[in-house]
Parts: sequence; structure tokens; C-alpha cells
Amino acid sequence: MTDPILDVRNVSKSFGALKASDNISLTLVPGEIHALIGPNGAGKSTLIKQIAGGLKADSGEVWFDGEEITHKTTVARARLGLGRTFQVSSLAMDYTVAQNVVLGALGHRGKIGLKGFFRPAMKDKALLEVAHDALAQVGLEEFANTITSELSHGQRRQLEVAVALTLSPKVFLMDEPMAGLGAEGSQRLTGFLDQLRHKAPILLVEHDMDAVFSLADRISVLVYGEIVATGTVDEIRSNPIVRSAYLGE
Ligand code: ADP
Ligand code: MG
Repeated sequence: MTDPILDVRNVSKSFGALKASDNISLTLVPGEIHALIGPNGAGKSTLIKQIAGGLKADSGEVWFDGEEITHKTTVARARLGLGRTFQVSSLAMDYTVAQNVVLGALGHRGKIGLKGFFRPAMKDKALLEVAHDALAQVGLEEFANTITSELSHGQRRQLEVAVALTLSPKVFLMDEPMAGLGAEGSQRLTGFLDQLRHKAPILLVEHDMDAVFSLADRISVLVYGEIVATGTVDEIRSNPIVRSAYLGE
């Protein structure tokens, strides 16, 4: 198998007596979509946060692109190319689409003091070009001056990807991108993610099983902080542990 770009090794994390991550190992290889599924509270978001840097693992290591990043900050990890979208949208709804991309790009770069950086940034030709290029890549170019609250949910998800693209990510971490989308929106976003995987592989936390089964090259199943199975779509669908523990059969 190709060398993994992301390599999570024996990561554990407890909240008091609760083991939210119990010795988790998982990899992401170039070109793939690796889906992480599991019931609510299984520890999916907790794992994503430990990879992105928002939460420190109690033990274990996270390797990215041949480098150990376990102790690096979120901003340092983003700079190295860990692109992330959030379970709850981080977009500023009353800003324009282009402003959100610039705002996000600044955030990634660790320049969060808005007053100091945002106004000059909106005049920064190089940064605006990065923003428009990212919008073009997700097909939102014509919405650059639209107020973000006017976008559909699906378009907002694409906008979040555009924000992540400003740092030329080497992987995408996505926590429930289909949440809040109707059937049609999910289908459209599924098509979009299927294209996006060619830019960078995706670690995809998702409840929408239609999306997972149509997109994933591999699926890992997390139950009570433990990965109980990893395999192809067919392997996971026919795995008796998964059927009883997760699919409720
Ligand atoms: P999932 O994303 O799979 O629904 P989470 O990773 O959000 O699950 O949560 C896993 C478990 O850890 C849950 O029982 C949750 O209540 C708990 N948990 C998550 N974050 C914290 C926290 N900051 N402090 C205490 N408990 C937490
Ligand atoms: Mg979650």
C-alpha cells in the first residue's frame, strides 16, 4: 500500500473516567476517502480534534506527511497542510463569500486579530487572488460578493472547503459535512467530494450512509472510543459486528 500521508498511532484520550479515544490507529493514503462512522458519542469529533490539534492526545502519536505533529499547534498543523471543515459552521454569516475566504485564510495563518488584519487584507491583491482562486475551485466564483447567509447549506459547505483550500491542503478532515443538507444537497455535495479527493485525500466523518457507501474507499467503525472494524464498503456492510453494533441489525 502507498505510504500514508496521515498516520494516527495508538492515540488515547480520556475525559475523566470516559475513554473517548481508546488506542486508536488509522491511516489516510493519497487519493482515498476514508470514512469514519459510529454512533453519537463514539468519539469521532474527539479524534478529528486530536488530528487537527484542538485537543491534545493523552498518549499516542499523530504523523503527517512524514513528520510527527503530536505536539504542534492547530495553526502549525494547518500551515503544514491539514485542511479542516467543522461540524458546526465557522462562517461569518453577514460577511460576503469572498470576505469569509479571506477571513478564514487569515485565521489559518494565525492572524486572528480582525481589526488589525481584516481591512488591509481585503485590499491585499495577492490574498484576494488566493481567495478567488479557491472560490473558482469549488464553483462559487459568481457568488464572491453574495452575503453568506444567502447561500444554500450545500454552498456553505463548499465555501468552507474554499476556506480550507487557501492553504493548499494535503489532506481534508471533515466532520459531518452533510449535516443539515436535504437529500438533493447531500447528493450534490457527494459529487463534489468525489472530485475533491483528487486534490487531497479526505478523512470523512459522516452519518449519511448513502454518501459514505458511495464515496468511501475504506470505512472505519468507531464504537465507544474503539475502532471495531476497518475495511472496504463491502467488508463493512457484511461485517456482523458492525451490523449489530452500528447498523442496528
Ligand atoms: P461523536 O463525534 O462521535 O458524536 P464526540 O467525540 O463528540 O463523539 O464525543 C465522544 C465522547 O466524549 C462523548 O461521550 C462526549 O460527551 C465526550 N466529550 C467530548 N468532548 C468532551 C469534553 N470536552 N469534555 C468532556 N467530555 C467530552
Ligand atoms: Mg461529532
